[in-house]
Amino acid sequence: MANGHCLCGQLTFQTTGKPNWIMYCHCASCRRHTASPVTCFVNYKSNNVTFSGDRSTFASSPGVTRSFCAQCGTPTSYETSKRSDEIDLYLNVFDEPETFTPQKHVYFDEHISWFDVNDNLPRE
Ligand SMILES: [Zn+2]
Ligand SMILES: [Zn+2]
Repeated sequence: MANGHCLCGQLTFQTTGKPNWIMYCHCASCRRHTASPVTCFVNYKSNNVTFSGDRSTFASSPGVTRSFCAQCGTPTSYETSKRSDEIDLYLNVFDEPETFTPQKHVYFDEHISWFDVNDNLPRE
C-alpha cells in the first residue's frame, strides 16, 4: 500500500497491491502537463486506487484524461481509453517516491536533447 497527495494536501490517494509497471515518459504532452523535462508514472489497476478530495480533469487528447488537484493544480494521473481498467499515477506525488524504481523509458524519441539519465534501462 502506498499513498500520495498534491502540493496543498486537499487531494490524496491510496493504492493497494503492487504496481504493474514504472516508467519514465519523455513525451511532449507529459512534459507540458508537469512543466518538467521528464516525468515518471506508476501504473495500477484502477480499482486498486482510491482518490479523496476535489480532483479536476482535462482531456489532453482523444481518449486521454489527465487529472490534477482542483485547488493547487498538482498533476496526479493519466488515464487512456486504450487501457480503461488502469491508471498511471505520477511517481512524484507519492509520499515515498523512492520506493518505486523505474523500469524503462518511453517516448524517448521525444526527449529533450540535453536531458538524459545515466542508466542502462531500455529506451523505447
Ligand atoms: Zn492541491
Ligand atoms: Zn507522456
